[in-house]
Amino acid sequence: NEWLVSISKVLVNDKNITTGVVSIDSSIKQVVDMLRERRKKYKSSYSFIAKPDGTVIVHFDKTFLNKTVSEIFHHPVSFNAKAGDSGHVLDFADKFIYYSFIDSIGWIVVTVIDKKEIMAPIFLQIMMNILTIGFIAVVFGKILSTLLGRRFIAPLVELQKRVKAVILGTHDSSSDYNYPENEIGAIAEDIELLTKNKLYEKNIELQNINKKLAILSITDQLTGLFNRYKMNHELKQEWKRAIRYNNKFSIIMLDIDFFKKINDTYGHQAGDAVLIEISQVIRNTLRSTDIISRWGGEEFLVLCLETNLNTAKNLADKLCRTIEKHQFSIGVTVTISGGISEFNNQKGIEKVIAEADRKLYKAKQEGRNQVLI
Ligand code: GH3
Ligand code: MG
Ligand code: MG
Repeated sequence: NEWLVSISKVLVNDKNITTGVVSIDSSIKQVVDMLRERRKKYKSSYSFIAKPDGTVIVHFDKTFLNKTVSEIFHHPVSFNAKAGDSGHVLDFADKFIYYSFIDSIGWIVVTVIDKKEIMAPIFLQIMMNILTIGFIAVVFGKILSTLLGRRFIAPLVELQKRVKAVILGTHDSSSDYNYPENEIGAIAEDIELLTKNKLYEKNIELQNINKKLAILSITDQLTGLFNRYKMNHELKQEWKRAIRYNNKFSIIMLDIDFFKKINDTYGHQAGDAVLIEISQVIRNTLRSTDIISRWGGEEFLVLCLETNLNTAKNLADKLCRTIEKHQFSIGVTVTISGGISEFNNQKGIEKVIAEADRKLYKAKQEGRNQVLI
């Protein structure tokens, strides 16, 4: 009750006479077991044996015995390769079929393997390769962007911060930043330096303007003496100092005599020239510690520091005489009158000024070209 395969060989002598037959019978099961050993590598693989005309003679599934390979695969299959060729592959819908001849007996060993089982690892390998390349690309990109960031973007961000700080004046000059040694670094350093230089120049310019403004604000434009605003400030300061240290100081209020007449006779410009010349004479005659101002149109106020009434009187008399003798450029003689008052603790600064004014008025009343105390 068992299928057998039988191989027989006719024995022939050298005279070509048949001398016998050798026959080997083997159970199909035994051959099937042998075939199972083939292609163990693939789980889906199995082998069977067919004759060259395609008839299956050994198969683990008995129902296929005596059917043709074409019938089994529902596909025309012909083994037209020559006996002795090493091996052949047929490509079916979902299977690879490999066959080879056993030369000595003319059998064909057919091995069937699922395509999936062969292709899956190949696809897996391709996928692995793609993933590996993708991973390397991402890592490389990350490294590249970090390097670029460090070399190009970071210095630009720092430059922006530093330039802003320089402009806002919050820049700490001791906090040096090392720009990278590349083109961006060089440009950034230049821009920072340029900003600092420009700002420095602007600062110097502003300081100069401020100095000029400060001088302008305390100077009388025509005579170059201190103006009334500055004199008021000096008076207040001196008044405070005098109270604190128990100092003395005196003031001399001066007014040009008949100045209106000069203007009327020689013109306003000539009047201006006289004002300028008198200012110079006052400055040259008085001491460097005396503070001189143009108090009004043709009035001058002199603050004599640490000076008592008599000393101030001597100074003012000397000034009167000098002006009286001075050769004015417009060829006239000019005189001045003055009133002097000395500060003492009971007086406020306004009272000191008012008193000098009164004395000046009196000097005018009593004939001009004199200074009264
Ligand atoms: P007195 O001896 O009483 O002081 O007589 P005065 O003519 O000097 O006094 P008055 O107050 O009548 O006239 C002062 C004149 O000074 C009038 C004004 O036009 C002139 N004056 C004031 N400021 C200036 C100035 O800046 N330039 C010129 N040229 N004249 C001025
Ligand atoms: Mg006057
Ligand atoms: Mg006058």
